[in-house]
Amino acid sequence: MREIKCASLGYNCKWKHIANTEELLADITAIHLRDVHGMKAISQDMLAKIKNAFMPPSEADAAKFADVKTKVYNCDIGPKCSWRYVAMTEELIVDGAAVHAREAHGIKEFSPTMIAKVKKAAQEWSLDSDKKSKVA
Ligand SMILES: [Zn+2]
Ligand SMILES: [Zn+2]
Repeated sequence: MREIKCASLGYNCKWKHIANTEELLADITAIHLRDVHGMKAISQDMLAKIKNAFMPPSEADAAKFADVKTKVYNCDIGPKCSWRYVAMTEELIVDGAAVHAREAHGIKEFSPTMIAKVKKAAQEWSLDSDKKSKVA
């Protein structure tokens, strides 16, 4: 298993992810950088930087996230917002959604109602289904 924290790439961001293989983790990190930080293409340099930031997860994290299913949240705050957030846990999704709501929609207080709504809207996500939906 490998873990990455977005903060170790230099972003002020709480996102982290654990995956079984480096390839999978690199793919998911690329999706995060594209969706959340607006990085259009991942250069070879960037890929090397991403892989450099991979760490073995702590034992506690490895145990905690071994069976976790990755989730996705599609923003529905703004009518035309296409923002989405892929993360391991509902807590991480809520963190990301709160930052996005503040930056993109001017919502300063992320209320318990909104947190509940985000958690409810979060769906299971997999890289395979993501690739398929892009082709279709
Ligand atoms: Zn990030
Ligand atoms: Zn939005």
